[in-house]
Amino acid sequence: MTDLEFKQQVLDTKSSSFCAAKWYNATIWLGSGMTTSCHHPPAHLVNIDKVRANPRLLHNTDQKKEDRRKMIAGERPGGCEYCWKIEDMGSDAVSDRVYKSKIYPIEALNEAFETPADADVNLRTLEIAFDRTCQFACSYCNPAFSSTWVRDIRNLGTAVDLDRLLDSINGLEIDLYTSNESVGLQAEYIRDGLVWDDWTNNVERLLDSRKFRTIHIMNTINALCLYSLDQFLECIMNWKREHGRDAVSFTLNILRFPSFQSPLVLPDELRTVFRQRLEVWLDAWWDSEFLHEHEVNHVQRLIDYLDIVKTPHSEAFDRPRLLNDFKQFYTQYDQRRGKCFDLTFPALKPWYDSL
Ligand code: SF4
Repeated sequence: MTDLEFKQQVLDTKSSSFCAAKWYNATIWLGSGMTTSCHHPPAHLVNIDKVRANPRLLHNTDQKKEDRRKMIAGERPGGCEYCWKIEDMGSDAVSDRVYKSKIYPIEALNEAFETPADADVNLRTLEIAFDRTCQFACSYCNPAFSSTWVRDIRNLGTAVDLDRLLDSINGLEIDLYTSNESVGLQAEYIRDGLVWDDWTNNVERLLDSRKFRTIHIMNTINALCLYSLDQFLECIMNWKREHGRDAVSFTLNILRFPSFQSPLVLPDELRTVFRQRLEVWLDAWWDSEFLHEHEVNHVQRLIDYLDIVKTPHSEAFDRPRLLNDFKQFYTQYDQRRGKCFDLTFPALKPWYDSL
């Protein structure tokens, strides 16, 4: 069954907004006491007093139960706007509602749909952050999720210890997740603290170890990464050719917050240039044996998104304010982190200077 067939035959026959992630997946940040379902909807606070009385409410919050009620009724929860934007591009558009549901058995999907919306449901997948320790301070992150952002300094000494990681997973079946979306200087600019050569060496070492089922590379698609996204995808294809289709996979997740870093802040002409680069890339690879169906779909939907969608999200119509925020943020970012926008993204300089 293709991804589109799954949407039409499994999800939409329940309701046009049903998504199993609302029942079975949680992202939980213990440091801030917040949760959401998949990582796209805005996080909301867990009620700690209620959790003391019933630990299952750590995941089954009032907010999620209300969202489930809406999904059963075919209404669209506002927090899931990421998926609605994609689906509104056309009836063939495949949103993450498909990918976040497809990972569960069909019987589990049926059970979720038939369970009363206010019931407490057991999790099947969990992304949990025990605290906010992170050695990066990516430009689109914030102090709630990164200790480096809290201190606004570099080099916390929290480098990944790959030896320890590799030693500790013997005999386990593990998928490993890492994030990136551009190459070289651009990657080091966007993800402050990342060293491109170290990151690629680490990925290659993990691939060579053959200790992971798959290494998933999550791309957060922001305005700046489009500059070298096609080169980054090429890098992933090289790893796939060397290690096999399933050894490494990627997803393209389109950034919505902070909205001034959305790809949609770029002027039409730059967006067209970047879209065309992706079209060239996809033309060359779409029927490759090394690509998964979801990878082809993710690139195609980004191409469509850059072409069709005009506003980052419904509360961000104020384009002059977004452009002003973009300029102010990166001016400060350069000063505080010792970076240079102009040297890192020379083709964006005329537009950036005009802001
Ligand atoms: S944003 Fe999409 S994938 Fe995430 S919970 Fe909502 S509908 Fe599901």
